[in-house]
Amino acid sequence: MPIVLRATLLESAGFPHAFSTRAATFEEVARAIDTEPAHVRRVKQVHSARVVVVGDDATESIEADALVSRGEEAVAVQTADCLPVLVGDRRTGAVSAIHAGWRGVVAGIVPNALEVLARSRQDVVAAIGPCIGACCFEVGEDVAEKIVTASDPTIVVRRAGEKAFVDLRRAARIQLARAGIANERIEDVVRCTYCEEDLFFSYRRDGANAGRLISAIAPF
Ligand SMILES: [Zn+2]
Repeated sequence: MPIVLRATLLESAGFPHAFSTRAATFEEVARAIDTEPAHVRRVKQVHSARVVVVGDDATESIEADALVSRGEEAVAVQTADCLPVLVGDRRTGAVSAIHAGWRGVVAGIVPNALEVLARSRQDVVAAIGPCIGACCFEVGEDVAEKIVTASDPTIVVRRAGEKAFVDLRRAARIQLARAGIANERIEDVVRCTYCEEDLFFSYRRDGANAGRLISAIAPF
């Protein structure tokens, strides 16, 4: 098993990228996308809808949940159950890394990042990385309703009493499609962080001290 996973769509478009497994360090992820750790920008993630464009400023103290880069710098988000989305514009070479948990999906972080990344979505390709699957993502009815409002009712895959099992990955795909990215330009790296303990960290399974998976992408 490789220490990082890749998406065929991003690979064939020429974007160096990686979704880490728990076996990869940050340095190894940087190396996997042909760069140095100092050139992989991250932000302080706060489950918001805020997007930052990477410039000369230090980004690690900035509170945001998506980064866009058009220059030399790579961008990365950290997750443990939440959904990492990596996006690239084949026309301009610009990229975005998005951290989307259910709060981010509800707040609109996915469409916001696309808005900043590219005016035309015709050449945009996206990959949705390992996250907690609908098999394991049980939420209260109130949370389920909020995610339904942000996507559509098909994201609820099963109800169990007062609880619902929700497909967060599908919710993100619906938002990407509504933002103008055709379904064939969206790839799912279908892995459940909760089920696959040997491969991934999971906040729900491991608690607050869970490690974080790194999802990174570099512009061309
Ligand atoms: Zn699962």
